[in-house]
Amino acid sequence: MNPEGIKFIADEMLGKLAKWLRTLGYDTTYYRDGADSGLVQIALVENRIILTRDIRLVERKLARNCVLIKSDNVWEQFEQIVRELDLDTKSHLFTRCLICNKELKLVEKEYVRDLVPPYVYQTQNEFYKCLECGRIYWPGTHKDSMLELLNNLDKET
Ligand SMILES: [Zn+2]
Repeated sequence: MNPEGIKFIADEMLGKLAKWLRTLGYDTTYYRDGADSGLVQIALVENRIILTRDIRLVERKLARNCVLIKSDNVWEQFEQIVRELDLDTKSHLFTRCLICNKELKLVEKEYVRDLVPPYVYQTQNEFYKCLECGRIYWPGTHKDSMLELLNNLDKET
Protein backbone atom coordinates (compact mmCIF):
# COMPACT_ATOMS: atom_id res chain seq x y z
CA MET A 1 0.00 0.00 0.00
CA ASN A 2 1.60 3.29 -1.02
CA PRO A 3 1.30 6.61 0.87
CA GLU A 4 -1.43 7.94 -1.39
CA GLY A 5 -3.87 5.28 -0.32
CA ILE A 6 -3.55 5.25 3.44
CA LYS A 7 -3.37 7.57 6.46
CA PHE A 8 -2.61 6.90 10.11
CA ILE A 9 -3.20 8.27 13.56
CA ALA A 10 -0.76 7.13 16.25
CA ASP A 11 -1.57 7.20 19.96
CA GLU A 12 0.61 8.97 22.52
CA MET A 13 2.84 5.92 23.09
CA LEU A 14 3.87 5.74 19.45
CA GLY A 15 5.59 9.05 18.72
CA LYS A 16 8.74 7.45 17.32
CA LEU A 17 6.78 5.10 15.12
CA ALA A 18 4.84 8.10 13.79
CA LYS A 19 8.14 9.72 12.74
CA TRP A 20 9.23 6.58 10.96
CA LEU A 21 5.98 6.44 9.02
CA ARG A 22 6.38 10.09 8.06
CA THR A 23 9.91 9.28 6.90
CA LEU A 24 8.38 6.83 4.47
CA GLY A 25 5.94 9.50 3.33
CA TYR A 26 2.84 8.33 5.17
CA ASP A 27 0.44 10.96 6.49
CA THR A 28 0.53 10.19 10.21
CA THR A 29 -1.15 12.27 12.87
CA TYR A 30 0.45 11.96 16.30
CA TYR A 31 -2.29 12.27 18.88
CA ARG A 32 -0.88 12.94 22.31
CA ASP A 33 -3.03 15.30 24.24
CA GLY A 34 -6.56 14.16 24.55
CA ALA A 35 -8.96 11.39 25.36
CA ASP A 36 -9.22 8.16 23.40
CA SER A 37 -12.66 9.21 22.20
CA GLY A 38 -11.09 12.23 20.48
CA LEU A 39 -8.56 10.02 18.74
CA VAL A 40 -11.28 7.67 17.53
CA GLN A 41 -13.31 10.65 16.30
CA ILE A 42 -10.41 12.02 14.21
CA ALA A 43 -9.75 8.55 12.81
CA LEU A 44 -13.37 8.30 11.66
CA VAL A 45 -13.66 11.80 10.21
CA GLU A 46 -10.28 11.73 8.43
CA ASN A 47 -10.41 8.06 7.55
CA ARG A 48 -7.22 7.18 9.39
CA ILE A 49 -6.01 3.81 10.60
CA ILE A 50 -5.47 3.86 14.36
CA LEU A 51 -2.11 2.65 15.63
CA THR A 52 -2.16 1.89 19.32
CA ARG A 53 -0.55 -0.13 22.09
CA ASP A 54 -3.81 -0.07 24.06
CA ILE A 55 -6.10 -3.08 23.76
CA ARG A 56 -8.99 -1.13 25.31
CA LEU A 57 -8.83 1.35 22.46
CA VAL A 58 -8.95 -1.43 19.89
CA GLU A 59 -12.07 -2.79 21.55
CA ARG A 60 -14.00 0.47 21.21
CA LYS A 61 -16.94 0.06 18.89
CA LEU A 62 -16.17 3.08 16.73
CA ALA A 63 -12.50 2.21 16.37
CA ARG A 64 -13.05 0.34 13.13
CA ASN A 65 -9.63 0.45 11.53
CA CYS A 66 -7.04 -0.43 14.14
CA VAL A 67 -3.67 -2.00 14.32
CA LEU A 68 -2.69 -3.17 17.79
CA ILE A 69 1.06 -2.65 18.02
CA LYS A 70 2.61 -5.55 19.92
CA SER A 71 6.10 -4.47 20.86
CA ASP A 72 7.59 -1.66 22.97
CA ASN A 73 10.57 -1.60 20.65
CA VAL A 74 10.31 0.92 17.83
CA TRP A 75 12.11 -1.31 15.32
CA GLU A 76 9.74 -4.17 15.99
CA GLN A 77 6.77 -1.80 15.81
CA PHE A 78 7.99 -0.54 12.49
CA GLU A 79 8.52 -4.05 11.14
CA GLN A 80 5.07 -5.11 12.27
CA ILE A 81 3.28 -2.29 10.54
CA VAL A 82 5.30 -2.51 7.33
CA ARG A 83 4.65 -6.24 7.12
CA GLU A 84 0.98 -6.26 8.12
CA LEU A 85 -0.03 -3.44 5.79
CA ASP A 86 2.54 -4.15 3.10
CA LEU A 87 3.82 -0.57 3.22
CA ASP A 88 5.96 0.93 0.50
CA THR A 89 9.30 1.73 2.18
CA LYS A 90 11.08 3.24 -0.84
CA SER A 91 9.21 5.37 -3.33
CA HIS A 92 8.08 8.24 -1.05
CA LEU A 93 11.05 8.51 1.31
CA PHE A 94 11.60 12.04 2.66
CA THR A 95 8.51 13.57 1.12
CA ARG A 96 6.96 14.61 4.42
CA CYS A 97 8.14 16.68 7.39
CA LEU A 98 8.89 14.44 10.36
CA ILE A 99 7.79 17.12 12.79
CA CYS A 100 4.71 18.70 11.18
CA ASN A 101 3.52 15.83 8.99
CA LYS A 102 3.25 18.26 6.05
CA GLU A 103 4.36 17.41 2.52
CA LEU A 104 7.74 18.86 1.56
CA LYS A 105 8.50 21.10 -1.41
CA LEU A 106 11.55 20.67 -3.63
CA VAL A 107 13.73 23.80 -3.42
CA GLU A 108 16.65 25.14 -5.45
CA LYS A 109 20.07 24.12 -4.18
CA GLU A 110 21.20 27.75 -4.07
CA TYR A 111 18.39 28.51 -1.64
CA VAL A 112 19.75 26.22 1.09
CA ARG A 113 23.41 27.31 0.91
CA ASP A 114 23.31 28.95 4.34
CA LEU A 115 20.75 26.62 5.81
CA VAL A 116 22.58 23.28 5.75
CA PRO A 117 26.07 22.18 6.85
CA PRO A 118 28.75 22.86 4.18
CA TYR A 119 29.50 19.17 3.72
CA VAL A 120 25.86 18.43 3.02
CA TYR A 121 25.67 21.32 0.59
CA GLN A 122 28.69 20.01 -1.31
CA THR A 123 27.62 16.39 -1.45
CA GLN A 124 23.86 16.61 -1.99
CA ASN A 125 21.87 18.00 -4.88
CA GLU A 126 18.27 17.57 -3.89
CA PHE A 127 16.80 19.59 -1.06
CA TYR A 128 13.30 19.83 0.31
CA LYS A 129 11.69 22.34 2.59
CA CYS A 130 8.78 22.12 4.97
CA LEU A 131 6.64 25.19 4.36
CA GLU A 132 5.14 24.82 7.82
CA CYS A 133 8.25 24.85 10.04
CA GLY A 134 11.03 25.73 7.56
CA ARG A 135 13.16 22.62 8.16
CA ILE A 136 15.35 21.52 5.25
CA TYR A 137 15.62 17.87 4.29
CA TRP A 138 17.77 15.98 1.83
CA PRO A 139 17.64 12.33 0.77
CA GLY A 140 19.73 9.94 2.79
CA THR A 141 21.92 7.79 0.60
CA HIS A 142 21.89 4.95 3.10
CA LYS A 143 20.26 3.92 6.32
CA ASP A 144 22.92 5.50 8.56
CA SER A 145 22.07 9.02 7.58
CA MET A 146 18.39 8.28 8.07
CA LEU A 147 19.11 6.99 11.57
CA GLU A 148 21.23 9.99 12.40
CA LEU A 149 18.46 12.31 11.33
CA LEU A 150 15.92 10.52 13.46
CA ASN A 151 18.26 10.47 16.46
CA ASN A 152 18.78 14.19 16.17
CA LEU A 153 15.08 14.80 15.96
CA ASP A 154 14.55 12.79 19.10
CA LYS A 155 16.98 15.00 20.95
CA GLU A 156 15.10 18.09 19.88
CA THR A 157 11.72 16.98 21.10
ZN1 LIG B 1 7.74 20.88 9.25
